[in-house]
Amino acid sequence: MQGGYTGSPPAFECAVPQVLHSGRYKSELIEVDMMQRKVTVERNSLKFAAAHFATFCGECEPVHGHNYAVIVEVTGDITNDSWVADFSDLKRTTRRFCDELDHKFILQMQSRVLSITERPQEYEIRFGKGRRYVFPRQDVYPLPADNSTAERIAEWFAGKLREEMLPRWPNLTNITIGVEEAPGQAGWYSEDIAR
Ligand SMILES: [Zn+2]
Repeated sequence: MQGGYTGSPPAFECAVPQVLHSGRYKSELIEVDMMQRKVTVERNSLKFAAAHFATFCGECEPVHGHNYAVIVEVTGDITNDSWVADFSDLKRTTRRFCDELDHKFILQMQSRVLSITERPQEYEIRFGKGRRYVFPRQDVYPLPADNSTAERIAEWFAGKLREEMLPRWPNLTNITIGVEEAPGQAGWYSEDIAR
């Protein structure tokens, strides 16, 4: 527009605030961005192999393993540089968490069905009257959950990612994780990040 235009100021100002958001910095923004954006990283290097047995309706699966794959979606306000999050950072961080579970037996420590005894060198797990397992401690990942389902493993990933990524990416508003036990078979967890 030419001449004596004195209408709205520019839509975007490249100073403080750091993020465009639909509310939090409204008073500091000239125009509010209502769009939602996300980035995803998945599979490829984000894999781990682990054993477990999940319980279901009072029953317990036989011990078995999966080649798990992880799908990460993070939603957030876009930064002044137009990032939601750095792919490399997200992949590197998720990869570290995959490594924590890789080649472990994932044990649901808060199980209401399994009887778990933790000793300095081992975990003893009993189910019903007939089943007893003893795993060397170094082979176990003690999952702080009631079951070792893909849904709970996804929740574990989300918690770890929130803790690690949020200080670097305070613009994030949601983390969604899929944990694939086999191609086409995944459990998901999604959480909005409280401010
Ligand atoms: Zn399984």
